[in-house]
Order: sequence, then C-alpha cells, then structure tokens
Amino acid sequence: MSEIELSVVAPCYNEEAVLTEFYTRMSKACLAAAGENHEIILIDDGSSDATWSIIEKLADQDRHVVGVQLFRNHGHQLAVTAGLSIASGQRVLLIDADLQDPPELLQQMMAIMDGGADVVYGKRASRSGETKFKLATAAAFYKILNGLSSVPIPRDTGDFRLMTRTVVEILRGMPEQHRFIRGMVSWIGGKQIALPYAREPRFAGETKYPLRKMLAFATDAITSFSTVPLRLAVWLGMLAAGFAFLILIYALHQWSTGNVVPGWASSLVAISFFSGTQLIVMGVFGEYLGRVVQEVKRRPLFTISALRRDGTSTLLPPNYYSLGVAEQNAVLHAQMPGR
Ligand code: UDP
Ligand code: MG
Repeated sequence: MSEIELSVVAPCYNEEAVLTEFYTRMSKACLAAAGENHEIILIDDGSSDATWSIIEKLADQDRHVVGVQLFRNHGHQLAVTAGLSIASGQRVLLIDADLQDPPELLQQMMAIMDGGADVVYGKRASRSGETKFKLATAAAFYKILNGLSSVPIPRDTGDFRLMTRTVVEILRGMPEQHRFIRGMVSWIGGKQIALPYAREPRFAGETKYPLRKMLAFATDAITSFSTVPLRLAVWLGMLAAGFAFLILIYALHQWSTGNVVPGWASSLVAISFFSGTQLIVMGVFGEYLGRVVQEVKRRPLFTISALRRDGTSTLLPPNYYSLGVAEQNAVLHAQMPGR
C-alpha cells in the first residue's frame, strides 16, 4: 500500500449539523491537493448527538475516512491530540469541523509547504459571525499572553494549520496534559509561515466554546507558557512593603503626638489590603500547583473507545491503557495497516 501523503485531523463535538457538509468539502479539497493518498481522521469528542453514527457512515462509505470515538468529552485540544497520534501522513492538517476554516485553503497551504515551510498556519484577516465580546477578549488575551511568554505566539490564529511529519512527531513527544497546541507549535519553531484568510461564520450549530471553557483555555495557555504570574507575589509584596512603610511613619507620628487611640480606619485598611493581596497570590500559586498535581499523575491524555475504518470497527487491546506512550503509538499504528 502506498504511503499517506496527507492526514486531516478534525475534532467533532456535537457537530451533526455540519459534518456531512464538512466531509464533502474537505474530501474534495484533499483530492485536489494530495490525490488519493490521504486520510481524513474525524474524532468524536464524546458527542451526545448523532455525530458518531454519521462518522461511522462516512468511514463505511469512504476508505479515506478514519473514525475515532473517545470515551467521553476530553475537550478540543485533547481531541486534536488523539487525532495526531493516529495520523500517519507526511503532512498533517488540523482543521475545525464547523467550516469556519475553509478546507479549500489546503491547496495554498500545500504550495507554501512545497516551498520549504515546516508549518503553514491560517491567520484570520477577518472574522465574520463573531461577537464583539469574543473579538475584544481574544485581542486582550493574546496581548497578555505575549507580554508574559518568552515564546512569541502569533495572534489571530487558531489551530488551523498544516504541519510536516517532523513537527507532528515533536508535538507528539510533548507529554503535557494541559495543552495549548498553537503555542506548543510556536515553541517548536522552524520555518512557520502565515496564510491570511477570511474566517467564516459557523456553517451550522453553535459554538462549543462557552465563556467557561474559553477562560479555562486562556488559563491553560498562560500557565503553560509563562511563570511570570508566580512572581506576582514579589511585586505585590514590594508594593505592600512600601505601603506598610508609609503606615509606619504615620503611626510613629501619631504615637509621638500622643494620639494613639484613633487608627481604627488605617488598621482596617491595612488588614484588608494585606489579606487581599495574600489571597490573590495564593490563588495564583494554587493554579500552578494544581497543574503540577495533574501532570504528575501521568494519566492518559485521551481514551479511545472505538476506531472505525474500511467498514469495520477495531477495538483496542484490553492492555492498551497499561502500556507506555511508545507502545500505545505502536498499537495505534498497527490498527492502521498500510497507513
Ligand atoms: N470541539 C471539540 N471538543 C470540545 C469543544 C469543541 O472537539 O469540547 C471541536 C468542535 O466540534 C469544533 C472545534 O473543536 O470542530 C472548534 O470548536 P468551536 O467551533 O465550537 O469553537 P469556536 O470556533 O466557537 O471557538
Ligand atoms: Mg468554530
């Protein structure tokens, strides 16, 4: 069997309304850009609608489609990670299933990669169908992130990108649970080229990233790429020390004039100021500590309940989850003969 030139990895969470249309456009784009030697990996991230049955149907009709079902909803970044561990192509495209990233750009991305790029990432020149709130918070987020992180992370990008096998292998070797994939790819470096594009509104359905998930995602990004917030204690401590010094002078002055009983207001202010700053700092420490706890557990990043290709479902061997990462990868690849 011939080698896979291109793998497409698309995470799907309750995407029954868009999946068929996505498959049609993506499959056409793959044939145009890479010919027959491609695979489209659709990851069902614990959907509760008909997403998995649509994926099974597509996998049964078209041998290019590989369906991957996760045990539960692991979240966008881990669903993508599951897809990457199965993808065997020389190049791998990450794309959202909701058609906000036009599949037709693949051809241009491939052409840029032919010119020697390691990563070609979509850069949103315009974004229709997004709320003002989302645009404003996204802009502020990237400003803060880049201010705090030593790895420059381009703004107005998502995970829509084409990567070489080498970049994908490096990415797969990065074991962290809290994944901010676009930042991790920036960290890898190499020749990374932006392709500006107009981001479309969602084809159908609604966003699977409510504010709560977006905040968690932003916290993951900042804690994965910066430890500057841990130094908050130092800055706040200095500020508080300066403040305490002023209070000391004031207190001494009051004492020297024999005016010692009043001072209720200033004590109250000082106590609440210091306890406030201490709680903030403890909270920041807690965020990082919590992540350390989760990382040292070394739980699997995702759990696969079914793989479907060529009209058959393959089950993972019962000992799969007790294997190390390298052996797990070998098992997944053995499930994909000739790929
Ligand atoms: N997604 C996922 N798991 C989740 C949330 C989202 O696999 O827990 C997928 C979703 O199906 C879509 C992509 O990630 O293909 C991006 O999500 P969405 O379009 O809802 O985010 P937005 O574009 O609104 O930021
Ligand atoms: Mg979307």
